[in-house]
Amino acid sequence: MKLQQTPSLATTRREVLAGAVGAVAAMLLSKGALAAEFHRFTHGAFDITVVSDGFLTLPAEVLLPDADPEQRKDFLSRLGGDASGARVQANVPLIRHGSDLILIDNGAGDNFQPSCGRLAENLKTIGVDPASITKVIFTHAHPDHSGATTTADGKLLYPNAQYYVSEAEWSFWTDPKFEEKQPAALHGFAKGAQRDLFAVKDRLTMVKPGSEILPGILAVETRGHTPGHISLHLAGDGGLLIGGDACTSDITFFEHPEWHFGFDTEPEIALKNRAMLLDRAASEKIKLLGYHWTYPGVGFVERKNAGYRFVAA
Ligand SMILES: [Zn+2]
Repeated sequence: MKLQQTPSLATTRREVLAGAVGAVAAMLLSKGALAAEFHRFTHGAFDITVVSDGFLTLPAEVLLPDADPEQRKDFLSRLGGDASGARVQANVPLIRHGSDLILIDNGAGDNFQPSCGRLAENLKTIGVDPASITKVIFTHAHPDHSGATTTADGKLLYPNAQYYVSEAEWSFWTDPKFEEKQPAALHGFAKGAQRDLFAVKDRLTMVKPGSEILPGILAVETRGHTPGHISLHLAGDGGLLIGGDACTSDITFFEHPEWHFGFDTEPEIALKNRAMLLDRAASEKIKLLGYHWTYPGVGFVERKNAGYRFVAA
């Protein structure tokens, strides 16, 4: 894809970004574009294309809070970043199943960093009209996952889609007492989540972990990154787990599954569920798809030393 710089977005509606993150993003923007073609594969009855929403740039303290200085330097270099931070991809699965065209998350729209929010435009390049999307399933309601629900003028970007989110995710972000109960660092995220979830309130289905959301698509409990985060298990071909942000790096957290990620709301539960996901995927040889992994983020988990290694499919 072509990397289009949109400087106007850098200074508008950046509710959730700390200044430091923005500075890192601006600095790394010039370093190049993403995959020229989108990865497509079939899985059981599903035809899946991993469409890029672009990339985000995260500071070292979010990516690697538990690494010592030496490890931090090593991982940042392997992540293709520099001392201040590194880029992570935003891989959105587009799933064709029967007459449905399903998105798992809808990307950032113009509500996060200017290097992401490319999904609708990239769908058009592969001949998919946003109006033809029939369903959007949210893994969680962070701005890089649900931020493209509406356009800047409040219109639905995917006007014909039905939406799905976990009941716990809805309850957490839409709590009228959110600001009293939760730390200030989360208030911007809550405003974004409320904007996105309320916009589709009349077409939103609440789901529970363990339930089948659509035929062959099961919600899997992976709370921790957010209190209502879910992953999705797709039936067929040995299984496919679409992990959302249950594991945010195919490099760092495969090698150090015990390390925290700076944006996890319930850090210890996040670690427990990430460990469960990786252990299950390794034991049962289930294919994984990771939202922020090296594009296209599709592969298997093998045990290595005290952690794992990622094996691209
Ligand atoms: Zn994310």
